[in-house]
Amino acid sequence: EEAFQERRQLQSRLCRIRHKVVVLSGKGGVGKSTVAVNLAMALKMAGKRVGLLDVDIHGPSIPTMMGLEGKQTIGTEDGLVPIEMGGIKVMSLGFLIKNPDDAVIWRGPLKFGVIKQFLKDVVWGDLDYLIVDSPPGTGDEPLSVCQLIGTLDGAVVVSTPQRVAAVDVRKSITFCRQLHLPVIGVVENMSGFACPECGAVTHILRSGGGRQISIDMGVPFLGSIPIDPKIAEAGDSGLPFVQHFVDSPTAKIMQTIIEPV
Ligand code: ADP
Repeated sequence: EEAFQERRQLQSRLCRIRHKVVVLSGKGGVGKSTVAVNLAMALKMAGKRVGLLDVDIHGPSIPTMMGLEGKQTIGTEDGLVPIEMGGIKVMSLGFLIKNPDDAVIWRGPLKFGVIKQFLKDVVWGDLDYLIVDSPPGTGDEPLSVCQLIGTLDGAVVVSTPQRVAAVDVRKSITFCRQLHLPVIGVVENMSGFACPECGAVTHILRSGGGRQISIDMGVPFLGSIPIDPKIAEAGDSGLPFVQHFVDSPTAKIMQTIIEPV
């Protein structure tokens, strides 16, 4: 009975959101949160009503990237109210967990409980898009997130260009297939280095792994984002890159990535 009520509450909140997109990666540190933030901002800039949900339980980095570090959400009778930044409704586990280091020792069922409670309590209102920054990997945590949200439009898989990363992409795609979750496409991040002067991209490491694996597995390839010092700078200072460096060549690449979304 309780489980039924919870499902109903979750569904009644989520049914007011037209499109739900999850951002996945085989492992941490590849730029999943960066892609999620910029995807959300690019959609906002295209005139959509957007929410950004950070469910990365171990390393919630969205608050930092959105300039909302140290903020706490307000709980009302209706639920948890997202914090607005640049017209985007943002909710992060980081707004709730005072010390993210605590989560490291939580057992699976406790983590599941926290994620479930969190998902069903957020008051999104009406949105065109909800972008979900999933925990990394293909284990229990991203699985819980995808299953709890239920009907997602699809997943954007983020990876890096090295050959070894192809294994992670394959795992993420297999993960989606097992969940019957459509793969919107693969983004290859940190693919070459963008010259701060002219924007020309130099391929320091071998690249193209993301593109190749997309072809091999029959999913769309959305594009390659170079290493651009401005992306790291924007992330650290809480200014979404696509908005603040809107005329840079890298921002133009990011803009094209949203088209299939
Ligand atoms: P993940 O969510 O996969 O753990 P993040 O998005 O947090 O990864 O990125 C890790 C770090 O790398 C952040 O400091 C971010 O600003 C930086 N970063 C991500 N992509 C790029 C890029 N293309 N160029 C420069 N820095 C990047």
